[in-house]
Amino acid sequence: MDSSIVLFGPPGAGKGTQAGRIVQATGKPQVSTGDMLRAAVDEGTELGRTAKGYMEAGELVPDEVIIGLIEERIKLPDASGGLLFDGFPRTVPQAEALQNIAPVSMVIAIHVDDESIVERICGRFTCASCGEVYHDLFRPCKVEGVCDSCGGSEFKRRADDSEETVRTRLTAYHNQTSPLEAWYENQGLLRRIDGNHTIDQVGEAISNLLI
Ligand code: ADP
Ligand code: ADP
Ligand code: ZN
Repeated sequence: MDSSIVLFGPPGAGKGTQAGRIVQATGKPQVSTGDMLRAAVDEGTELGRTAKGYMEAGELVPDEVIIGLIEERIKLPDASGGLLFDGFPRTVPQAEALQNIAPVSMVIAIHVDDESIVERICGRFTCASCGEVYHDLFRPCKVEGVCDSCGGSEFKRRADDSEETVRTRLTAYHNQTSPLEAWYENQGLLRRIDGNHTIDQVGEAISNLLI
């Protein structure tokens, strides 16, 4: 398996928003554990039933569940050229497990301050057909009610994108996920990006890392 890239940062930092550009530049498919878990919850699978309560509460799903999911994902044929991980790993044990199964060449850490995170998450919505990520103020549809990328007219908001749950998710991030930054820095893999700029400016900064 070729090396993978990790997109790292707090909830709402803009990982999903920037992922498309990295997929285009590198050809590595995006793997979002949040999207995989939400699909499992919608389908009502055993995995979904296990994950649901944690996700609704804004807590992390247990490591062994997530690691099992990734072990299965990297067996698929499209993983041979490496993957773009979005929202994984989120704990040191997850990163250790990843180290044993797939090489990582770069960790792109998007930094955004907590108050902006709350603002970003509370205004987030996505296209129900293609998953394009929007924001009420910062990234509205060009024509209201019509998806820019697929023309769809149905949109979704996540139940866990409420101010109360965001605070719990931020606490989980600071306690369980942010220690990973030092872990990756020690390995020389960490690249920090200031995410407190426009979507295009952050995208430019990320593109410069990929040259
Ligand atoms: P993550 O995948 O890290 O949780 P998203 O990509 O879903 O984050 O972005 C969270 C919200 O913030 C979305 O509504 C998105 O449109 C918006 N957003 C993303 N990047 C920026 C930015 N640089 N400036 C303002 N809003 C942004
Ligand atoms: P965001 O980037 O907005 O936090 P995600 O879609 O990445 O949202 O994750 C949504 C929820 O799914 C998290 O709050 C958590 O409950 C669960 N989750 C996603 N990825 C992981 C992971 N790698 N480890 C543990 N829980 C996860
Ligand atoms: Zn769409």
